[in-house]
Amino acid sequence: MKAISKSLTLSDFQKKFPDDESCLKYLSNKKWKNGYQCHRCKHEKYCNTVKNYHRRCTKCGYIESPTANTLFHKVKFSLLKAFTIVYFVSTNKRGISSTELSRKLGLRQKTCWLFKQKTMQAMGSRKIYSITTDVEILPLELGINHVIENGEKVVKKKLAVLAHEKKGSGRGNTYGHRIKNLSSKELSVIFLNHIDKTATIKTTGWSGFAPLQNVYGKMKPFKPNKGKRPLVMSYRIGCGLLQWLRGIHGHAEHLQYYIDEYFFRLNRCDMEDGIFLHLIERMIKHEARTYKDIVTYKPKAPLV
Ligand SMILES: [Zn+2]
Repeated sequence: MKAISKSLTLSDFQKKFPDDESCLKYLSNKKWKNGYQCHRCKHEKYCNTVKNYHRRCTKCGYIESPTANTLFHKVKFSLLKAFTIVYFVSTNKRGISSTELSRKLGLRQKTCWLFKQKTMQAMGSRKIYSITTDVEILPLELGINHVIENGEKVVKKKLAVLAHEKKGSGRGNTYGHRIKNLSSKELSVIFLNHIDKTATIKTTGWSGFAPLQNVYGKMKPFKPNKGKRPLVMSYRIGCGLLQWLRGIHGHAEHLQYYIDEYFFRLNRCDMEDGIFLHLIERMIKHEARTYKDIVTYKPKAPLV
């Protein structure tokens, strides 16, 4: 099993970021650490402006703040409070609700909700890591949704599929995708994003996996043995996800964001250099998102 988190303690965080200026300086250093390029005209020379840490393009005059065109874009409250939200979201083992953030920071719950959703945008998998060794694939039911279809109230299952990487006796990474149904087409998304064709794959006996065997030659359905539960580790991880969703996000509307949040923390629980700073860096590289982008669920993958 992975070790306990070695990320920044709250007092380390407060020492490193005592005020808004320290946060702005940190964003500026990280944002332009590989050199400056004007967001508008791509020119590479700038001069400083009267506002600290802002840069002005010497060609077109565009002034860019360290927060512009990142997930901190146009943040309407103190940057230190924004950093504090990222700190709690990334380091609390079970996450933190917007109501709790609102109490801790003296901000409106809706404000905390929106900024937390922005933070979660940077927690999605970058899909650059393919599992090449042993992997378990498990479809999961994560509750039900009541939706209106043609004027009728219909109950729909919330479904997801997990890919869990087996690493000897330890635990590798786990990825999760929301799926609309259990068809091969829906199930194939997690394979395309995370599974190498040479991987040894264990699945349940569900028929939807059968067509994928043509591409993934080393895929085998698990055969129950002496009453043993199939895919033990994935099943445990799936139960953990389900419990967590029931606990603080019972009405999680955009399930994929919550799945991303859960596995972002789980896969990095032994990250030595600090999950918090890692998340800040991802938020800097991520394009800005508006409230509308978030509620209309338009996931993009701008990270490089
Ligand atoms: Zn320019």
